[in-house]
Amino acid sequence: MFDPGLMDMIMRLRGRGVSDNAVLRAFELIPRKYFVADKHYEHAYDEQRLPIDCGQTLSEPLTIARMTQALGLTPEHKLLEIGTGSGYHAALLARICKRVYSVERYKKLIVQSDDVFRKLDIHNIVVRHGDGRYGWPGQAPFDRIIMTAGVRAVPDKLLDQLAPGGRLVAVVDEELIAYDKARTKITETVFFPMSIPMMEAGKSKAL
Ligand code: SAH
Repeated sequence: MFDPGLMDMIMRLRGRGVSDNAVLRAFELIPRKYFVADKHYEHAYDEQRLPIDCGQTLSEPLTIARMTQALGLTPEHKLLEIGTGSGYHAALLARICKRVYSVERYKKLIVQSDDVFRKLDIHNIVVRHGDGRYGWPGQAPFDRIIMTAGVRAVPDKLLDQLAPGGRLVAVVDEELIAYDKARTKITETVFFPMSIPMMEAGKSKAL
């Protein structure tokens, strides 16, 4: 169904430098409104963070788009996402690449996002309750890794889980950075100051 808010969002992303057609197409095919509570529906396509359960937030569309574009993702890629949250970013990534493995520290968010994936008929995402700072060693290596919570430094354990020629995208000290396995910055990443929630230690036992 035609959704004017969604179309506005796509035009806005294009205007702000998101040029990768695979990324824009994914945004078009995965309606953001399904990943937020009903009361936030009317703001689902605005350029703002939206609250989700467990005191977490879904990042702004432009932040998600720029991080995704920096991955240089192709349909053959196997990807690891740290921070499932609402599941929105994972769903976008799963439209572009082959399979998404996603780690989240809140069990409740995993159950909810799994539910939305099922409703939207998305079957190439696997989620796991754990501390994302340790990655997912049993499924490594990954062609791409994305950290959707900010860090002061990328953990070595994550870089170790990259395949040769792989790429990791993270927001380090509020700067969007892409690294190769040897922690060398990939120069094609354009500098963007970016604010996203910071990563927390350990997995949540309560929620
Ligand atoms: N990608 C998400 C939003 C990211 S917000 C979406 O599309 O909605 C950052 C997420 O990272 C939050 O859900 C938070 O709970 C999670 N997170 C923070 N620290 C973590 C850790 N150590 N391990 C796993 N997940 C973590």
